[in-house]
Amino acid sequence: MASEVFVIKGTNPAEMAYGAIKKAFKEDAAGKSVLLKVNTGFKGPAASGICTHPEVVRGLIRFFKERDVGKLYVGDSSIVGTDSMEALKSAGILGVCMEEGVRCVSLDDFGVEKVSIPDPVMVESLKLSRLPFQVDILISVPVIKTHMYTGATLGIKNLKGCMYQKDKTRLHRIHRQPPDSSKGKCLDYGIMDLAKVCYPDYTVADGFIAMEGFGPSGGTPVNLGVVVAGHSAVAVDLVCLRLMGMKFNAVPHINLVRENKGFELKDLRVYPENYMDYSRRFVLASEHDLHQSYSNPRMVDRGACSACHAAMVQFFRYHHHEYADGPPVTVGIGRDLEREDLLCGSGQDGSMGSSGGRVPDGIVVVVGNCTARHSKGFPFCKGCPPVPSQIARTIKIGKTLGD
Ligand code: SF4
Repeated sequence: MASEVFVIKGTNPAEMAYGAIKKAFKEDAAGKSVLLKVNTGFKGPAASGICTHPEVVRGLIRFFKERDVGKLYVGDSSIVGTDSMEALKSAGILGVCMEEGVRCVSLDDFGVEKVSIPDPVMVESLKLSRLPFQVDILISVPVIKTHMYTGATLGIKNLKGCMYQKDKTRLHRIHRQPPDSSKGKCLDYGIMDLAKVCYPDYTVADGFIAMEGFGPSGGTPVNLGVVVAGHSAVAVDLVCLRLMGMKFNAVPHINLVRENKGFELKDLRVYPENYMDYSRRFVLASEHDLHQSYSNPRMVDRGACSACHAAMVQFFRYHHHEYADGPPVTVGIGRDLEREDLLCGSGQDGSMGSSGGRVPDGIVVVVGNCTARHSKGFPFCKGCPPVPSQIARTIKIGKTLGD
């Protein structure tokens, strides 16, 4: 069966989103409950490419209000350590919901549903918010972004925000051999497992202001000026990849979900046919580039998951300039971190003495709950994942101890 995807180019994100869903949505929504699952995983300013554009959300709200839906929710659950309602507010989405008279919610407030995964590959079951299972129509409203760990984050991966509270980091903490590592990492297979039980009815991808580079939170905004909508999340994600200048098969978790759902490229119909005129080549980024881009602080990573990597990217993005002229700083992350890893390369004998995190030629701190066992020897930033501003604060404590 043909899967239609509609790409709308323009300058008014509310009108574009309205126009895109109008083309893609072909059922009677009267009286039905609808959840617009936006992307506010990270707290960021409105229209910065970090979160779904508030005007895109407005366009979708207006479309569904006109169709007399029963209940209309707009919501997400942010990464651990970020208040979901604060993130929705900061993104401008809470304000739009208030103006439009629609409920803006944290998905965690609806309780937890433990769901068994059919034919599990990485996880047998997952804890998810109840709300996506209570509504009649689930709509994924991601931002078009590159992702330093999964290549891209689009309509399928956006539903990872439906995972309940701390369980969100679970797919990042699988330490098991993937069935075929040439096809994807543990996280990619984990997303495929998630998509078996939590998959959108429609996807409306916000590329009005997209993100390239160190996405999902530390990248650079791109004024792509498109909204992409369709019934099939796989189809929408594939079209978004092409708009980002990537090949259809560039992203492992999309390939795995596509294979699992039996989606054939020959069934893809994209309108307008010349949609590639709107494409541009996005700058990609992997976690390896992070080490090369910033020489101070030095990051020592021993088995950290991608949630910690994402926190470090944000930390580097917003705080790296604070260390340009200062002493060398070493930040240790990951569950396999050893004391020797932190001191090696610093010219130390391993003795911290009474100077806390300060060593004669630098400062050493440990970050993330996985490193808590080192908290007696080094200033420690708790969190799972840690919050970037608290990492900076912990380094300040290390400096103070040495002064
Ligand atoms: S502390 Fe960091 S590395 Fe450890 S599980 Fe949490 S986010 Fe992942």
